Amino acid sequence: MFEKVLIANRGEIALRIQRACRELGIKTVAVHSTADAEAKYVKLSDESVCIGPPPSNQSYLNVPAIISAAEVTDAEAIHPGYGFLSENADFAERVEQSGFVFIGPRAETIRLMGDKVSAKAAMKQAGVPCVPGSEGALPEAPEEILRIANAVGFPVIIKAAGGGGGRGMRVVHTEAALLNAVSLTQAEAESAFGNPQVYLEKYLENPRHIEIQVLADEHRNAIFLGERDCSMQRRHQKILEEAPAPGLPIKIRDKIGLRCAEACRQIGYRGAGTFEFLYEDGEFYFIEMNTRVQVEHAITEEITGVDIVQEQLRIASGEKLRLRQKDIVVRGHAIECRINAENAYSFVPSPGRITQYHTPGGPGIRVDSHAYHNYLVPPHYDSMIGKLIAVGDSREQAIARMKIALSEMVVEGIQTNIALHQDLMNDAAFLQGGTSIHYLEQKLAALKKSE
Ligand code: ADP
Repeated sequence: MFEKVLIANRGEIALRIQRACRELGIKTVAVHSTADAEAKYVKLSDESVCIGPPPSNQSYLNVPAIISAAEVTDAEAIHPGYGFLSENADFAERVEQSGFVFIGPRAETIRLMGDKVSAKAAMKQAGVPCVPGSEGALPEAPEEILRIANAVGFPVIIKAAGGGGGRGMRVVHTEAALLNAVSLTQAEAESAFGNPQVYLEKYLENPRHIEIQVLADEHRNAIFLGERDCSMQRRHQKILEEAPAPGLPIKIRDKIGLRCAEACRQIGYRGAGTFEFLYEDGEFYFIEMNTRVQVEHAITEEITGVDIVQEQLRIASGEKLRLRQKDIVVRGHAIECRINAENAYSFVPSPGRITQYHTPGGPGIRVDSHAYHNYLVPPHYDSMIGKLIAVGDSREQAIARMKIALSEMVVEGIQTNIALHQDLMNDAAFLQGGTSIHYLEQKLAALKKSE
């Protein structure tokens, strides 16, 4: 196992990784921008290095600064967390070339999965079901594009091969609007992602977002850790996640999960990863793979008892997976509410100083947060200040515990979205379970209208 790991991230995930390292007896190096110099996890780490001013492109995305921080502190490995450089193949390559271990998949795997066209092709080959659509990137000839779209059937969605974070997508309902939408998306993709390639998919009208968590080692062992339902989204951003997915038959779950594990073996995947699917009418359709730990990994930890971050560290150090598929037993139900520093209904970010802070507790409650009393939420980064996780024997118990936890949680001085989560915990459709990816937007639109 490593002796020292550098954590190339900030906020709750930096603290989460630090805790996993400490439990395994690994020393940690925190790198931070000047805006995060006072963060508690920075003080708690064995060493810390300031890597630049607040803007991410000068600090958390500053590759030379991060590599030299690893050099001066003699770290052996770098954990990228999520966001920032976590899915940057060039960074993974630089890390390895500089003699450090990148805690994640090989650079070529990140590259393969980072391009949605090549990712889809690889998944198709591995027998993972994909959304019907164009074979690879769209050709240039307009009549060909029209032919493909008509064969797939409207509505269709045009997606950038290099897209991410919910950007670079356009839904098209009619043939008349198609060619214009394709050229617009190409132009946007070129300027935003440096890659004008776009492809076309059937637009699913009412799917759920269900994803499969996997773990794979360098020795071609791979398992899946059940699924998560992340359908509660706004602007393609997840707000609340739960595991297992309400009402999903175990047989269907196991079939897709085993396929994902098999796909990992086929592509030589290494590390933790997530296969994201849209799920409609009993069918799964692959949309993309995330080659890193995800925000919502904690709910899977709660229902399987597996520490995903520790497994990432073990896999990166070359160990064989200690767990077999038969060891993975899902128990109970877990829900995660992302607590954001923002207005609960307008979603306007609300950075600033937290003047009162109290976290809930009791049976089945887990709070993953770097925030504390008097913490200054910097305006430069993502607005998430923590995750509230409730676990119970049943979904009903998890919801009951989440309601209590939300009512106990006190964050003053800034605005948070706690009220929205409280609203959701009493929402009839949520309580029933199995809402589609459009549900939250529809609910918010209805709320606005009734104002
Ligand atoms: P990103 O990498 O930007 O997150 P994804 O491919 O994961 O992009 O898609 C993000 C979201 O966009 C999905 O969760 C879903 O809400 C919507 N979406 C993507 N593809 C389709 C599709 N074929 N039909 C309907 N919605 C889609």
